[in-house]
Amino acid sequence: MKSAPLVGTNASPASLSPASPSSASPTTRVRVGNSTIGGREIFIAAGPCAIESTEQMEAIASTLGPAPIQALRGGIYKPRTSPYDFQGIGGEGFEILRQVRQHHGLPVVTEVMAVSQIEALSEEVDMLQVGSRNMQNFDLLKALGQANRPVLLKRGLAATLEEFVMAAEYIASHGNPNIVLCERGIRSFDNYTRNVLDLGGVVALKTLTHLPVIVDPSHAAGRRELVPSLARAAIAAGADGLILECHPRPDESISDAQQSLSLEATTDLIESLRPLAEAVDRSIALPIFQPKRAPQQAPECTSERTPERALLVA
Ligand code: PEP
Ligand code: MN
Repeated sequence: MKSAPLVGTNASPASLSPASPSSASPTTRVRVGNSTIGGREIFIAAGPCAIESTEQMEAIASTLGPAPIQALRGGIYKPRTSPYDFQGIGGEGFEILRQVRQHHGLPVVTEVMAVSQIEALSEEVDMLQVGSRNMQNFDLLKALGQANRPVLLKRGLAATLEEFVMAAEYIASHGNPNIVLCERGIRSFDNYTRNVLDLGGVVALKTLTHLPVIVDPSHAAGRRELVPSLARAAIAAGADGLILECHPRPDESISDAQQSLSLEATTDLIESLRPLAEAVDRSIALPIFQPKRAPQQAPECTSERTPERALLVA
């Protein structure tokens, strides 16, 4: 069997083995708009589960932009367990994304669910998210390999680390090295929390690959009161960033209300990360007192690594 580039020539994909600390290479830096994921500064994206209105996104961007967050998140296409639940506002959301991105100069990350959505979404957003339910949608992954936007790849609901890394390999091997892995909790027997945040997996991924790894404590916990502590634990464990769900009126969120933080709680959470980040030799961007940022150029997708470089540390 031809071995995957990520695992080198002597290993099969079934035998991922960690790099020794001495051979560990530095984290690849992935640029998203004017921000970088994988450098010293912790990357924080925040926003609603689903984009609902311009007013909602404006409130989030104007409150959290100065906090500051590095990107806005929000889905216009929502992969819901039930076909009878809200499926996202779809095409209507394009204008909202465009406005908020231009007005606040903040990069935007949104979920892409189908190959047919890639081209249009790439025009409007700075990063394309692959949701857990699509982690092994290989046609989507291959097509994203040809996209000119970085990809935020979320771990499947019950995916092993090997399956997760191999999903990233699909994107990389089709030409796009700008990949950020996202641990968002995995299924377990206990349903008190929505999922179980696999921080051990985050630590392992940081030794197995050179990709940035961020954590989504919102979908892991499913309960807003648990989110701040999990976020802090993620930073202490070495995560390169966070993606958080928040809403100006969390209880009114159309989807994932229980795990959505208020904007005030999100700001407090970000502040609480500061000493922790310093303790692990990272930093949290300082608050910006001038809320409006210079509008950014259309983002170019760049990586400090060459496309042929494998994702795994050799
Ligand atoms: C989301 O980010 O809103 C989402 C649906 O996440 P996941 O794919 O991790 O469930
Ligand atoms: Mn959600």
